Amino acid sequence: MRLSKFPLHTTKETPADAEVVSHQLMLRAGYIRKLGAGLYSWLPLGLRVLQRIEAVVREEMNRAGSLELLMPSVHPAELWQESGRWQQMGEEMLRFKDRHQNDFAYGPTHEEVICHHFRQDFRSYKQLPVSFYQVQTKFRDERRPRFGVMRSREFIMKDAYSFHMDKDDLAREYLNMREAYTRIFTRLGVDFRVVKADSGNIGGAASEEFHVLAGSGEDLLAVSDSGPYAANVEAAETLPSEQPRAAATAAMEKVSTPGQKTCEQVSKFLDVPLTGKVKLLVVQGAEGGLVAIALRGDHQLNEIKAARHPAVASPLRLADPADVQRVFGCEVGYLGPVGCPVPLIADHAAAALADFVCGANDNDHHLRGVNWGRDCAEPESLDLRMIAEGDPSPDGQGAIRFVRGIEGGHIFQLGRKYSTAMGLSVLDDKGASVTPEMGCYGIGITRLAAAVIEQSFDAAGIIWPDAIAPFRVILCPIGLDKSETVRVAVETLYGELLGTGVDVLLDDRGNRPGAMFADADLIGIPHRIVVGDKGLAGQQFEYKHRRADKAEMIAATTAAVLEK
Ligand code: ATP
Ligand code: MG
Ligand code: MG
Ligand code: MG
Repeated sequence: MRLSKFPLHTTKETPADAEVVSHQLMLRAGYIRKLGAGLYSWLPLGLRVLQRIEAVVREEMNRAGSLELLMPSVHPAELWQESGRWQQMGEEMLRFKDRHQNDFAYGPTHEEVICHHFRQDFRSYKQLPVSFYQVQTKFRDERRPRFGVMRSREFIMKDAYSFHMDKDDLAREYLNMREAYTRIFTRLGVDFRVVKADSGNIGGAASEEFHVLAGSGEDLLAVSDSGPYAANVEAAETLPSEQPRAAATAAMEKVSTPGQKTCEQVSKFLDVPLTGKVKLLVVQGAEGGLVAIALRGDHQLNEIKAARHPAVASPLRLADPADVQRVFGCEVGYLGPVGCPVPLIADHAAAALADFVCGANDNDHHLRGVNWGRDCAEPESLDLRMIAEGDPSPDGQGAIRFVRGIEGGHIFQLGRKYSTAMGLSVLDDKGASVTPEMGCYGIGITRLAAAVIEQSFDAAGIIWPDAIAPFRVILCPIGLDKSETVRVAVETLYGELLGTGVDVLLDDRGNRPGAMFADADLIGIPHRIVVGDKGLAGQQFEYKHRRADKAEMIAATTAAVLEK
């Protein structure tokens, strides 16, 4: 591709409303453009990255034996009513009516739809196991869309669904998918961890998330410093109560009686209407600071924007980690999915807690949209768990350390939750009717593009791994309009690289070297070849890897370039 025909839209200025580096760089380098809250267009450069990620995902899914199909993004309400999720999904699901006043949803996920197709065509054990996947646009009306495409409302997901005669076969496929995901994340060149996850509202037995490790990650992970243990703190095992936590426990007991901590009490404590089953997780930060996250399944108290502490006169803005750090002596950053943890208090825990008032008084955001299970019929209970940095790992190997991650993928053993609700059945080899076991497996394609950047950038811009770079090589001719030698050399190289199937970008805009290099670095092309009269006089090109400090001279041949 020639840059004269592939306009770049790069800027030096950091966009004011972009908080994380991937969002900033994707805007600055012209990969994406915003259309509305949580809605982004992918410009030609960005789309190439998405297509590369999709290609890796498709290759590995196909290799793992899953069959690609494509389901509509608009779903009839009846399917969601059948599973019971028409009610459960709350405001995250976008709903609308057609001209006949029939209800529809824009699919946030596709369990219901795939179950519907399964029951249309599958009758016998001979047709199982089977696994389907698609790469499809989802819409979730996220409470706080942010970080650009990392938490957008419309996004692309690869979602897969498998059907099995029994639990053992589901477990086998789960491992198969786990391996496929491991290959995908490895090929994308990211540093990732597979962590135990809370299966939340979706139900089911085993569940793990694939996290791209990054300081900007919204999830807090408890990992062993020297063993294999790794869990999302939402799913981390309860740890035995120890000395440093006595204060916290005491504090909690002030607001509710041990053992029988009801939602009503927590509700009073947090000044938030809560019903149904609530888990309260207390995380102990550095220097005894405590951070608590109240959660129920996927729902977290993430709309709490301010809390009062006796040490400060005005409500703290929890969105500002520095505030929390100053007062509570613990590092917070983005804890919990949307980054608004409820800080509790360390040393003088009990006293401080008594004064703890929690309310969202910022921009009329008072916990709007938090679905604490109004329709939930579960018995009221509160389960208090604690985990601290330095705790022994639950598997006995090493000590717990906290790291942050971006959830890039999630695999579930769903069991028979949906197959039962939607009346799926197949005949086994004895002619008896069996409700199939199900698994589901998701990867955030658009989110991963940003997650890769969170791990791979420098002051000059993005650094793409070869596997998903929009172009692998960029050719920068110096003095293109003045030197025929340069023109011939670079055109020959360009043609030959294209001929061997290398994705090559030729900067034929006639820009000065500095401007050319700045663009090449910002958009993150991994390999750069400079073709100039000086080098050509000694039959050489200049080569630089995007990560290297210095350029090197290589022979002025296509073969030498291909070696890089
Ligand atoms: P999160 O905890 O970040 O809200 P989730 O657990 O709700 O994610 P899943 O239902 O497990 O998401 O969906 C599978 C994958 O889809 C996630 O692992 C993530 O990579 C991606 N994904 C989910 N929500 C979004 C979003 N709002 N924007 C971009 N990608 C998303
Ligand atoms: Mg979510
Ligand atoms: Mg999640
Ligand atoms: Mg998930």
